[in-house]
Amino acid sequence: MREERVKKCDRCFLAAPVLYRVQYDASLRWFFVCDRCFPSIRQDNLHYTYGGTWKARKKH
Ligand SMILES: [Zn+2]
Repeated sequence: MREERVKKCDRCFLAAPVLYRVQYDASLRWFFVCDRCFPSIRQDNLHYTYGGTWKARKKH
């Protein structure tokens, strides 16, 4: 089973241990954004929808 250990932010393209799954435009596409980009896409955004949090590390 292949599992991605590192995901990259769809805004700044840097790998992050925690990403937020969000919709932020009219395409209703899901994007993953890091905690640095998250506040700026959420602000004044009518299309903003929160879809959960992705973490690289899973609990055993
Ligand atoms: Zn980012």
